[in-house]
Amino acid sequence: MVKLKKILKAEKGNEKPEEPFIIAGPCSVESYELMKKTAVFLKSIGIEYIRGGAFKPRTSPYSFQGLGEEGLEILKRIKEEYSIKVVTELLDIRDLESISNIADVLQIGSRNMFNYSLLKEVGKTKKTILLKRGMAATIEEWLSAAEYIAIEGNSDIILCERGIRTFENYTRNTLDLNCIPVIKQRTDLKVIVDPSHGTGIRELVKPMSLAAISAGADGLMIEMHPEPDNALSDACQSVNFEQFADIYHGVIKLYDCIMSEKY
Ligand code: PEP
Ligand code: MN
Repeated sequence: MVKLKKILKAEKGNEKPEEPFIIAGPCSVESYELMKKTAVFLKSIGIEYIRGGAFKPRTSPYSFQGLGEEGLEILKRIKEEYSIKVVTELLDIRDLESISNIADVLQIGSRNMFNYSLLKEVGKTKKTILLKRGMAATIEEWLSAAEYIAIEGNSDIILCERGIRTFENYTRNTLDLNCIPVIKQRTDLKVIVDPSHGTGIRELVKPMSLAAISAGADGLMIEMHPEPDNALSDACQSVNFEQFADIYHGVIKLYDCIMSEKY
């Protein structure tokens, strides 16, 4: 087992919050109108965190790469106009300042989990860091990445399981829910699950959201779009508002049940 000093589990441990930590929104910031519709909807059901990438790490260099600076401006307006917290990905160290000025949570994506210089830099900030699991990272490697951030002084880290690569190719990735109880044994960091990237198939987002909460996840990050089939990225795994509301209500019920030990 790798050596952990900063993110080791404390003897008493942290109490689980009353509510699950939920982040939702489109894969990419596509337009002001999209983010506005999304923010209004999230606020109406009491969700405090909106997601959306301005800088997108795409497998093909010919796919939509995000709106960049314009996307950040949109997130800034949305945050001010709707008092909603913003989660967005930091892809490149050179954007740390501009993204930190807007984001409440800095997302480090799967492709950057092994980017130790980036991890060290975000460790010097006071932002909450959402550290996604590398698609081919072991749990130990992922925890070590979190330790890199914590060593620099920032232990405000949320881990996000987003599926790993296996021989199974029916789904986009294989959601490794084993990691949740393992992480809970090793550290007090919050761990949330992203069933959208974890499955790549919108019909699987609800069952895997419920499975994640049952396994002890502290929350979820879900890709949602008012017209999923027209999304500029990750259309197949995005749910619409109605589907999201259904997932959310199921999750809240299950989480309450677990919290009240009725389960
Ligand atoms: C995302 O959350 O949009 C994303 C790109 O995720 P990942 O880094 O897990 O692929
Ligand atoms: Mn995506």
